[in-house]
Amino acid sequence: MVSITNLAVGKELLIGKTLNTNSHWMGARLMRMGSMFDRILTVTDSLEEISSGLKELLARHPDFVIVVGGLGPTPDDMTLKGVSLALGTRLKLNREALAMVKEHYAKVGHDRVEITPPRRKMATLPETARPLANEFGTAPGVRIQRGDAVIFCLPGVPKEMKFIYRQSIEPEIRARVGKLYTKKIVLHLEGISESTLAPAIELALKLHPASYIKSHPKGRREGRSRIELNIVVTSKRRGISESEAREIASFFSSKVTAAGGLIARQGGR
Ligand code: ATP
Ligand code: MG
Repeated sequence: MVSITNLAVGKELLIGKTLNTNSHWMGARLMRMGSMFDRILTVTDSLEEISSGLKELLARHPDFVIVVGGLGPTPDDMTLKGVSLALGTRLKLNREALAMVKEHYAKVGHDRVEITPPRRKMATLPETARPLANEFGTAPGVRIQRGDAVIFCLPGVPKEMKFIYRQSIEPEIRARVGKLYTKKIVLHLEGISESTLAPAIELALKLHPASYIKSHPKGRREGRSRIELNIVVTSKRRGISESEAREIASFFSSKVTAAGGLIARQGGR
């Protein structure tokens, strides 16, 4: 199993100002690929927190760490400094990154691009880093190879993060994960409580250890409890994912009916 972790950087994420939609978005894309984050760690904008957060994640020998936020020109954006501190590398002006920063300002209408210290900052990367093109913003993304681990750093602005993720990160992760097929079935159950369903989930997970089975209570309607049950099976062969997911769904169908409930609706893809 490929191990992928996420370091989300930004005080705004910790104080209820910004909802961390970046991790949510990447998590869903990884799931579609048949993978997932092992851990998501959120830290404030401080050198100490960024550096110790990254060290903590690297200590578990992940294949990939995706660091998001704090690549901008302002002093509170200190992610790359924190990453350098964690890795024991120096920060250095990167020519390729500088060209990307200049190109961005030229594109948005600056004739003579003056490289001010805040602009230079966005092109100053850990020594061993490679910049990743950012179509929608100024600060390039960053790729750093560290032993067997690859560390990516992305800007926090969702549009920029998504562009770099799609263009420069997802293909590399997909190549490592390999081609996997995911079948998802969603059962909308009525008239059965989670506690009644629990033993069936336990048994299904025992019979299908590689599957993901999760119940989400959806409250009550007309006195009947409602549950959304997610069944996800991932495997190297499409036929196996589909037949196993269907087998699990029919197992639940009979358990739910036997307990006096019903399947109001079935979805998935
Ligand atoms: P900038 O150049 O804009 O400063 P940056 O890489 O420094 O980019 P941040 O300063 O961390 O990014 O965040 C910029 C914007 O993106 C903020 O408005 C912030 O709320 C938003 N943002 C940051 N992280 C996330 C996140 N995890 N989910 C959603 N939005 C986020
Ligand atoms: Mg910023």
